Amino acid sequence: MAQVTIYGGAGSIGGNKIHIREGSSGLFLDFGIDFSMYSRFYGDFLTPRSGRGIYDYLHLGLLPPIANYRSDLTPPDLTLKGMPQIPVDALLLSHAHMDHVGLAGMLDTTIPLIASGTTLGLIKAMQDSGPARIGSDPIYTKERTPHDERTLVAGRKAAIGRDLIVTDDITDSFRSLISTIPQGKGARINASVSLFHESNFPFSIESYPVDHSIPGATAFLLGGDLSIAYTGDIRTHGRENAATSRFVDAARDTGTLIIEGTRLLREEDHSSPEVSEEEVAVNCREAVAEEEGLVIADFSPRNIERLMIFQEIADTCGRQLVVTAKDAYLLQAMAACGHPHLLPSLLMYGGFTDPRIPGWKKGLSDQIIPVSSDEVKRDPGSYILCFSLYDLVALPDIAPEGGTYISSTCEAFNEEMALDTARLVEWLDRFGICCHGLSGRSPEAVGFHASGHASPQDLEAIVDRIDPDLIIPVHTTAPEWYSRRWEQVVIPQTGEEITC
Ligand SMILES: [Zn+2]
Repeated sequence: MAQVTIYGGAGSIGGNKIHIREGSSGLFLDFGIDFSMYSRFYGDFLTPRSGRGIYDYLHLGLLPPIANYRSDLTPPDLTLKGMPQIPVDALLLSHAHMDHVGLAGMLDTTIPLIASGTTLGLIKAMQDSGPARIGSDPIYTKERTPHDERTLVAGRKAAIGRDLIVTDDITDSFRSLISTIPQGKGARINASVSLFHESNFPFSIESYPVDHSIPGATAFLLGGDLSIAYTGDIRTHGRENAATSRFVDAARDTGTLIIEGTRLLREEDHSSPEVSEEEVAVNCREAVAEEEGLVIADFSPRNIERLMIFQEIADTCGRQLVVTAKDAYLLQAMAACGHPHLLPSLLMYGGFTDPRIPGWKKGLSDQIIPVSSDEVKRDPGSYILCFSLYDLVALPDIAPEGGTYISSTCEAFNEEMALDTARLVEWLDRFGICCHGLSGRSPEAVGFHASGHASPQDLEAIVDRIDPDLIIPVHTTAPEWYSRRWEQVVIPQTGEEITC
């Protein structure tokens, strides 16, 4: 018998924190941030107080009321009395999206991470190159110390690491990526990196690569008495759909299926038909071919499938693909995890001349050729800039006179994103840039992005093929969609134990 408790992801998209318990053993499946809940309290300039550690997160319900957090993030005036210490032998991470890993750094550092090498490599690269926020340091951290009875300050001690258990393969390049702190002049992270061995672990765990919008995405099968399948985020219409199929076959007749349902809300929304990556490639190529001036492509380079599509388009249209330094760093990390080494064929926007550039960026200088704003300004028709809204602040330096912007990313689905879209349109209008892929803003709105998530029809086929005894829907605002179709559905409530 096993107990499943959904601490995050029940009735919401993302923020998955799923606890599995069997006797005195337990583990978490993902430990992500629930952005919809976070944005109810916080926004761009309104953030949790870093000196208060986990205090604000616990009080606002952004972290579950358990006592398994890092003691150095617990300020002296915070009492965890009454909050249970639950068994957590490991944290299994399905993939490197923040709504699945964003709060992992809050958990006690004695809890190891189990994930694919690519997922761990991406999380490490995001930590290296991202802003230092509490909990954004799941791979290595400097212990904080109390400053007074309420506040914590960052310590000076060498970085401590969390033990990492890899489900697929450990190469030398992965080991070197994962064990070095770029800001620390090559300082090493003190933690072990090992391959998963069932013998050292109370649960039997099988991992299956699945198709999603980020490399390294993995579904898990927990074996033994409990027999639980967890999809993570999953789709069947990308280039890796055979991988999803292998997972679904392996999960057949599982006891409990914990499954996502991101797109269920849009079930009745006929304006967003299924778009495949192949169609995205065709539409984007056409839009680029028609443009003689600057092209801006907006997508996450962690979506390597999309990046490769734009690489092919750049080649056929006689342009060069330009990425930001941060994205170049993530691509370098992916190469260290066995993905194609794309940097030699790309350009990086900006340069390496500023003496204050951080260590992670310095390390790129022998990997990728920089291109300056002046070069792009002189010959905008020679490039495709992989820019998001936040990179458009560079447009005054390039001062394009017209151009094409392709939104190859998901549509705004909340107020904050809608506000971002409105700002984006202001930037594009200012420079006379026409856009593709923005509904309500561009003539051709659909066909420039393929979802990272399975359609309702595909989810139905997945569940029917697996035919589980029990279904627990997560990562969806419409869990009742499942109970309308199958009898054996338990709609989870946050923090309530389900016995399987
Ligand atoms: Zn995801």
